[in-house]
Amino acid sequence: MTTQYRNLIDGEMVETASTMEVVNPANEQVVGLVPACGTDELDRAVAAARRAFKSWSKTPIDERRAVIQQMSGIIKENADELFRLLTTEQGKPHEQAKGEIYGAAGLMAAQSTLSLEEEIIEDSDTRLHRSRRVPVGVVGGIVPWNFPVMMAMQKIAPAMLSGCTIVLKPSPFTPLTTLRIAELVKDVVPAGVVNIITGEDSLGPLITSHPDIDKITFTGSTATGKKIMEGASKDLKRITLELGGNDASIVLPDADVSKVAEQLFWSSFSNAGQICVAAKRIYIHEDIYDELSTAIAEYAKGVVVGDGAQQGTGVGPIQNKKQFDRVCELIEDAKSNGYKFLVGGDVDPSGSGYYVPITILDNPPEDARIVAEEQFGPVMPLMKFSTEEEVIARANASDYGLAGAVWTGNPDKGVEIAEQLETGTVWVNEYLHLSPFAPFGGHKQSGFGAEYGVEGLKEFTYPQVITVKKNAMA
Ligand code: NAD
Repeated sequence: MTTQYRNLIDGEMVETASTMEVVNPANEQVVGLVPACGTDELDRAVAAARRAFKSWSKTPIDERRAVIQQMSGIIKENADELFRLLTTEQGKPHEQAKGEIYGAAGLMAAQSTLSLEEEIIEDSDTRLHRSRRVPVGVVGGIVPWNFPVMMAMQKIAPAMLSGCTIVLKPSPFTPLTTLRIAELVKDVVPAGVVNIITGEDSLGPLITSHPDIDKITFTGSTATGKKIMEGASKDLKRITLELGGNDASIVLPDADVSKVAEQLFWSSFSNAGQICVAAKRIYIHEDIYDELSTAIAEYAKGVVVGDGAQQGTGVGPIQNKKQFDRVCELIEDAKSNGYKFLVGGDVDPSGSGYYVPITILDNPPEDARIVAEEQFGPVMPLMKFSTEEEVIARANASDYGLAGAVWTGNPDKGVEIAEQLETGTVWVNEYLHLSPFAPFGGHKQSGFGAEYGVEGLKEFTYPQVITVKKNAMA
């Protein structure tokens, strides 16, 4: 029997008359039914969040921290059940799913320690002039399917800490683990502070344009981010947008091939390449191109593509059919243009599951679709470069500006190049490491605002300045 999942509205787990199916991408079997919410459920959730805001925003911050920490603890205690469910709906291998569940719990615990201190601008004989932060109100959170739990929790925790309440919509492709977490934590969260409602993509614009939501925090594609900005402009809602990327990695001639091949592989192929900050274009200096591209290809041949629930799987299926079709289209485009494949390229259409073989392209041109567009799948183009100036210009020739990396035996040189990249994050000799205490956000069309750290927390607040003239009535 297919499990029926419920939504969290006003502290209660609720069902709806109409439901949507959730599919396991490893075998295309239906693995759960979730509510298909519309205006009525959204209005109820927003009204509950508005009611709860009155008391939650006045709850001392240490009590709010304690609730977030309890939620984090509950997620950790139930990690075994949760990571298996995550693999079932999302496709990522068990080890990576485990990493996401513990990572989300750890992130919540870390974020719960943040504070927004008052700033004294002037404290003189004549005036006390101070600036403090106040919560914006009810937040609408909208998240994608690649890291569904991490993305949900990285919005819920700072919203709660700031004193806001939230109505969160998971992706229709991956709502199950988030709803199971809602069920597990509902008794430690005051009613209405966190509401989780599921629906088709069409629920998104209803959230963006809801008159009683004050802020939208969104992670997803740049195309949807633009629609959100447009929808939110009607009543000037505050927005934070974490969007797509086409991140470049640059490998200098002094990089140690034996050390970087494996790391470069996983910087592109973790989560089947479905990571906003995955390395999506790899530029290798011509002096080491042949040696390093051969080493990466050799490493790739030993990685198993398959069902993430099977032991030994390194790369799972693509999460959904729409994305699978898009990745296949990019591979077909590369074939029809005669680009050279070092590994993979042949998708087997028989059988069930959205499997794409690990695919590595050998020096396609800069205007190839696989280089110019965000692939968000297990297909990596390797390109040759000659000079630093040239490769920096190629890396920056993108509307995106999310992240990038430099690999080199000389970290100072790495930093010199990093500082010339037009992205929100740059790694030197590592990849995918994000700190809950550093702002994470995209430049250019990769985002608006930031998450994480004090800067991310501030996005759930307004500044309020209070000045008091001293001795005015004396
Ligand atoms: P998407 O934009 O299609 O969907 C994201 C969410 O938005 C889903 O919940 C969806 O239901 C909802 N949505 C769809 N249409 C909407 C609309 N018109 N108004 C409001 N909401 C709407 O993105 P996706 O395919 O789920 O995720 C993949 C994209 O997300 C990639 O581009 C990836 O780079 C990006 N991403 C970015 C980050 C980051 O932190 N920068 C992290 C993860 C993923």
